[in-house]
Amino acid sequence: MSHLLSVDQFDIQSIADLFALTEKIETAPRGTYKVASSSVLTNLFYEPSTRTSSSFHSAMARLGGSVISINDVSFSSVSKGETLEDTIQVMAQYSDVIVLRHPDKGSAARAARVSKVPIINGGDGVGEHPTQALLDLYTIHKHKSLDQPLSIALVGDLKHGRTVHSLLKLLRMYDVQIHLVSPPGFLMPPELTQTQDVWHRDLHGCIQDVDVVYMTRVQKERIQDATLLQQISNYGISLELMQLARPDMILMHPLPRVDELPTCLDADPRSKYFEQTGNGLLVRQAIFYSLFGMPIPCWRPVS
Ligand code: ASP
Repeated sequence: MSHLLSVDQFDIQSIADLFALTEKIETAPRGTYKVASSSVLTNLFYEPSTRTSSSFHSAMARLGGSVISINDVSFSSVSKGETLEDTIQVMAQYSDVIVLRHPDKGSAARAARVSKVPIINGGDGVGEHPTQALLDLYTIHKHKSLDQPLSIALVGDLKHGRTVHSLLKLLRMYDVQIHLVSPPGFLMPPELTQTQDVWHRDLHGCIQDVDVVYMTRVQKERIQDATLLQQISNYGISLELMQLARPDMILMHPLPRVDELPTCLDADPRSKYFEQTGNGLLVRQAIFYSLFGMPIPCWRPVS
């Protein structure tokens, strides 16, 4: 079964294949690749989402398929106490692929164990968000060469942010110097770090040196300790910091933003976060193309 649960299922070659497919879709006239015309996607979201659910929806529609949207499980049988496993087995009867977002780490793997159709992990708690990481990497690839050494700062709530967990794993496949920028209490989990990573309390320590700044918001919904929340002040980016950055640096953010990324930076040509969201639509079309339009998908089966 072709579940897509983690970026661990990719290597440099499969990423190159997926990006080649993405570029083909990007440059072709709309409607060229109707490979999903008899297919149905279930978008099953137990947590709020704007970009992930809408871009998967739009990607399926662009490939000719249709979508069942369960964006608020409180209106579904989940509110009657139905288990994730039962809901998955039911929705697998009605659809050909399920995108699942759920607050529990490991939930996508649980769903995959009982599903007869592919599960795509749309974010499992503090675990992973593989398709976000792929679209982030695609955005970097559009502006920088992944064949050259790069220097990237991951900034913010690195402890609870799943997008940085998945992205960091992908970046490890390339020649990338990693700068981890976060207040104490929000550090990247040790199992994801390596000795050559450079740690900083704020962006002043590395903004001059990096090719990419990847900002993240504080994941308030995952933090119970109010004192921890008070520690997270002053880690954001500002006009002043942007002046210290390289003219060809790119500024990214998975969105939504809160106050770590002021709107006055939107007009700076180095800001790529809205472009990132558009790349999400393209990469997710490539993922569906890989599932429905090719003999086997680009990524490795779950081990
Ligand atoms: N949209 C991303 C996610 O679902 C980032 C965020 O919510 O901060 O993880």
